[in-house]
Amino acid sequence: METDVIINLPKFKTHSLNVFTGGIKNMYGIIPAGLRRRFHSDYLNLDDFAQMLVDIYAAAKPALNIIDGIMAMEGECPGSGVIRNLGLVLASRDGVALDAVAGGIIGLKPEDVFTTRAAGARGLGMCDLQKIDVEGELFASQVVSDFKLPAAGYRTAMKHTPRGIVKYVLEQTSPRPRVKRKNCTACAKCVKICPAGAATMMGKTSAINDKNLHPLHVLS
Ligand code: SF4
Repeated sequence: METDVIINLPKFKTHSLNVFTGGIKNMYGIIPAGLRRRFHSDYLNLDDFAQMLVDIYAAAKPALNIIDGIMAMEGECPGSGVIRNLGLVLASRDGVALDAVAGGIIGLKPEDVFTTRAAGARGLGMCDLQKIDVEGELFASQVVSDFKLPAAGYRTAMKHTPRGIVKYVLEQTSPRPRVKRKNCTACAKCVKICPAGAATMMGKTSAINDKNLHPLHVLS
């Protein structure tokens, strides 16, 4: 909040939940890791999650957004995406317009991407491709028709499955950290730095309280 200017440098990649992640979603990185994990759990509805991302983008107000699409990533990102050489760099002061154009290059309409749609509806930038001037390379010449988009199945499941069930499944299937007791020197540093407050001292070693862990603590 004290910086003079924010320059936003996202990578060009798809996203299993948001469909595409560019300038808007990249601002999620400015909040502490513990909060990011918690918000993943608090906003299981994808529209709500996108609105939260747009809130952060609107608060950060990056002055310049530059998407690095030289080496992009396609498919089911971030978990199992595949690197794709696009050789593109896109920049704009308007992160919404930038995301709209970047999505358009891989065949997405602005309304297909949760964050672009939400930010455009809130008037935070231009998301009408017909009204965006693209300088440099001709937009049409950059369209990549075979870019692999994330499958809709996961998003559909998230949409139609009750929140409690999604949370339960995430809790049951997420990996969990464990303290190797024989290696623990009881320095208590983990207790001080654990963003979720899940580490605690139990006698001569540290222990992890599962109840304080975020269900996506390893994935986010
Ligand atoms: S107290 Fe925590 S940080 Fe210190 S050695 Fe044990 S597990 Fe590691």
